[in-house]
Amino acid sequence: MPVQVPVPRRPRHVIRVPRTATQIALPLDPGNLFVDESARQVFERRLQLHLGSPLMVSVTDNRQTMISCRRVGGILRARLHHMFLDADGDVVAALARYLVRRDRRASLLLGRYIEDNRIRIKPSQPRAAQLRTAGDHHDLGDLLSSVSRTYFGGDLDIAITWGKRPPRGRRRTIKMGTYSRDERLIRIHPALDRTWVPRYFMEYVVFHELLHHILPSPTVDGRMLFHSPEFRDRERGFRHFDRALSWERQNLGKLLRDY
Ligand SMILES: [Zn+2]
Repeated sequence: MPVQVPVPRRPRHVIRVPRTATQIALPLDPGNLFVDESARQVFERRLQLHLGSPLMVSVTDNRQTMISCRRVGGILRARLHHMFLDADGDVVAALARYLVRRDRRASLLLGRYIEDNRIRIKPSQPRAAQLRTAGDHHDLGDLLSSVSRTYFGGDLDIAITWGKRPPRGRRRTIKMGTYSRDERLIRIHPALDRTWVPRYFMEYVVFHELLHHILPSPTVDGRMLFHSPEFRDRERGFRHFDRALSWERQNLGKLLRDY
């Protein structure tokens, strides 16, 4: 039989940064577009195991409010920052205690977790970099929105730009794209802005960098694992995956030459 857990009367409560152990009631931030639906559902089930009452979790990418919740018609509606999606069991249990009882020790533990994951909170400063999306042959803005819509259910809160032209000289490798979590920015190598680089390859590069944006990079043996098994698995969901890889193999030399 489910346990009925008494819930405080106050309609909502929040954990904010940077005063992580302080609980201040504030209006909820507007929702945003960061959604990884399967991860959200898995997390909701994990949290549900600690609760006796129905729960609905929304995932946010807020800068200030990491945790907030209120009860609507017997359902606990929690809005949680995406940093919690891959939290370990202790943190999930603390979250449950905090949501239903505002447990002080749980609140301290959550405050530490938020502090440790501060890097995953989007920066407040406007992007310093000048963004350049239009190329001579490929339009990165168009590529970004079409890949986001096709594979991630809508526009993601991220920007894209052509990278700087590197100094001339022979090179043996080329980084097609890079992702900066701090800047929430994807940079695409300018060598790809050529007529003979097919659109599906451009889409693959953008897709790969977007996966870095939405998936956490787990730490294994003290090192960040950027291409985790989950990453590799998700990557194969790209429609032209094999074709893109074989195009890359066949054209790497050409990309490196004359640039
Ligand atoms: Zn990568």
